Amino acid sequence: MRMYIAGEWVDRDDKIPVINPYSGETVDTVPRAGVEDVDSAVASAERGAAVMRGLSGYDRYAMLKKAADLMEERLEDFAKTLTMEEGKVIGESRMEVSRAVQTMTGSAEEAKRLYGETIPLDGAPSWTGQIGFTLRVPCGVVAAISPFNFPLNLVCHKVGPALAAGNSVVIKPATDTPLVALKLTEALLDAGVPVEAVQCITGSGGSIGDALVGDPRVRKVTFTGSRDVGEHICRTAGLKKVTMELGSNSPLIVMPDADMDKVVAATVSSGFSNAGQVCISAQRIITSRDVYGDYLDALTEGVEAISTGDPLDESVKMGPMVRAQDAARVNEWINEAESGGARTLVGGGYSGAVHQPTVVADVSPEMRISCDELFGPAVAVTPFSDIDEAIGMANDSNYGLSAGIFTQNIDWAMRFAREVDSGNLMINSGPQWRADLMPYGGLKDSGMGKEGPKYAVEEMTELKLVIYHP
Ligand code: NAP
Repeated sequence: MRMYIAGEWVDRDDKIPVINPYSGETVDTVPRAGVEDVDSAVASAERGAAVMRGLSGYDRYAMLKKAADLMEERLEDFAKTLTMEEGKVIGESRMEVSRAVQTMTGSAEEAKRLYGETIPLDGAPSWTGQIGFTLRVPCGVVAAISPFNFPLNLVCHKVGPALAAGNSVVIKPATDTPLVALKLTEALLDAGVPVEAVQCITGSGGSIGDALVGDPRVRKVTFTGSRDVGEHICRTAGLKKVTMELGSNSPLIVMPDADMDKVVAATVSSGFSNAGQVCISAQRIITSRDVYGDYLDALTEGVEAISTGDPLDESVKMGPMVRAQDAARVNEWINEAESGGARTLVGGGYSGAVHQPTVVADVSPEMRISCDELFGPAVAVTPFSDIDEAIGMANDSNYGLSAGIFTQNIDWAMRFAREVDSGNLMINSGPQWRADLMPYGGLKDSGMGKEGPKYAVEEMTELKLVIYHP
């Protein structure tokens, strides 16, 4: 496919292959953009921002709603593209496209709700009849940089609110998974989004990222990706608004009164969907000693039932990781934990990019499989003695994106909610749960700012204050 810059589909002689991580075959190629392409994309986006600023909320609603409808019509094509470039099983890809339709629909609705407020200036001692109110206005050009693991829905979480708020947007999709973002760009243009209001530039973030993020014409950077790249972007962005949706090593606490069937099902779905490559995957399973053996037995059985293979095969439950070197890395961390005394109960091997779903027990908190972000199909189980120790372990991380607890005890549940430092807190669910309309974002090194159309629109607008002096 070609990239979309300055109102045109653009090619370059230098191409990047997009590889199917399961078969190793080349699915397609995209042009490798250079910094001069960033310059023309941003210049065009500046013109696009001026056009967007002149549209009414209803116009913006109508074009985003139309884009959502087109995405729904193209669901099967989007889902197949997603599976072939990213490797998630086809059922999960269909689910991602359906969620992306909801994200765009929710963004369309927000285009009609850009409220300001009146300020009760008569509450100030010096008031002499002034009337004050705020206006919410677009930032201008938004740079939207997205990761490989949800290459459609996470792009929609940026593009939808950016356009709803009256901005233009420069999309920089992950190099492993640019195709579905380019198809989204087609759908936006087909839906009537002004030609320069959207740009989709393909190329390595390491080569073109600084030029995009550091450009003073860009007024807002919204980034989803790893912690270290996020920190680099914050330093490069300088004085502009940033939203950072970063990684985690999410904990799931299994209390002694947990419903065993439900917690095992939640661990399987929270730990292994998309081969564990989800920012809110359950990674650290902090389990009461009272039920430790029972939980491990049941979890082993649950994880053994996850079939692996070609993600286009409807019967397969888990596909490959995005790259073979990631499977090798996950395996290295598991081996390292084993040599430190942990036990692999199921899985433990890999072939190419497919890593077997793996359960590692008796994990110490300082092992890499526990204290770093694993981002792969393995869970690390660690025993605890009481709720104080469980909460201490959950908080023993520089991350804080999502956390879960299974218990019937309301006091334990409320202590978890109040004391665990996490942006999302799930009671009787795994940490991997998200409705696209909710405010979503992390604490600590998991980032800053919130997504979810209503909240992202706030992050992608500025408040102006107006005072009428009689
Ligand atoms: P990544 O390596 O940080 O890349 C994310 C994006 O940043 C890609 O588009 C990448 O481009 C780009 N990039 C790389 N270097 C850059 C630079 N110097 N300047 C500007 N952009 C740059 O992350 P990933 O491996 O794709 O995704 C996995 C990570 O994302 C995990 O840590 C996961 O937890 C996190 N994540 C967080 C959330 C959340 O909502 N909190 C959701 C999903 C994923 P290239 O692909 O060209 O390198």
